[in-house]
Amino acid sequence: MAAEGLHVLMEAMVDSNIFTGYNVGMNAPVSVSHLQFADDTPLMGTKSWANIRALRAVHVVFETIVEKIPFLYLGLSEILGCSENKSISMAEMWEWRRPLRAWEEEMLGECQTLLLTVSLQDHYSDRWQWQPDLEGGYTVRCAYHLLTELEAVPLGAAAGLIWHPQVPLKVSILAWRLLRDRLPTKANLITRAILPSGAHLCVSGCGAVESAQHLFLSCSMFGSLWSHVSSWIGSSLLTTQTLPDHFVQFTSSAGGSRGHRSFMQLIWLACVWVVWTERNHRLFRGSADTSLHMLDKIKTFSYR
Ligand SMILES: [Zn+2]
Repeated sequence: MAAEGLHVLMEAMVDSNIFTGYNVGMNAPVSVSHLQFADDTPLMGTKSWANIRALRAVHVVFETIVEKIPFLYLGLSEILGCSENKSISMAEMWEWRRPLRAWEEEMLGECQTLLLTVSLQDHYSDRWQWQPDLEGGYTVRCAYHLLTELEAVPLGAAAGLIWHPQVPLKVSILAWRLLRDRLPTKANLITRAILPSGAHLCVSGCGAVESAQHLFLSCSMFGSLWSHVSSWIGSSLLTTQTLPDHFVQFTSSAGGSRGHRSFMQLIWLACVWVVWTERNHRLFRGSADTSLHMLDKIKTFSYR
């Protein structure tokens, strides 16, 4: 019965040009606005804000007709103002018909982080807002500036050091993710509610929270690799606080020639690769290498 109600509603929306269906066929296109299966009614239409507003309206109307609404994957209307569940968190509002895959969990986590500060209000009607410019609204120029500035702030000169002709792509991609703090460290997984908050400990047993900064710089076990590397190369030990700064300073710490810099760049990339691999082996295989063994791996890597 609920499906029938939705069918009538969609027909009326299309008839009065509130909702534009999706055209199928080339010569005499047929407009499809929804399909009905036993327990599923996917709605489809052209990609436009008008259609999203129309679907939101359908959602609200439909919600008053049936209690349990089948808008499970739409998401957008859940985000933009579900009328009844104001006090429950975003995480609880989402229901899934099958368990999420790992990459979906990760995307959901990111989405939830974005929505953390969103609170639904009774007295305001829904509207679209471009946060960086509340008065002028969205412009491509504004978005472009925002994206290019975002890029420059956290990485700076380190961004230019990620790629290296003798370094395998997978290692550079690891560094790219690391410098943006996008690796699935325990701290990051807890932020995304993938791990429970008690599961924060560094795998080395040092007792600290496993963040990227900790694992790659300050950990008493993994961080000690840098002092082995420094005494092997004969460069001074660095005390920088952030990974991008560390990368930049390490690269120039053995002298100014281009060859030196290129070699140091390669060593830094090898270090983070070896640290991350060792961390994963300890976590998932239960094996453990000493930091001197890790140094040997870095030497092997650098002579390839
Ligand atoms: Zn540690």
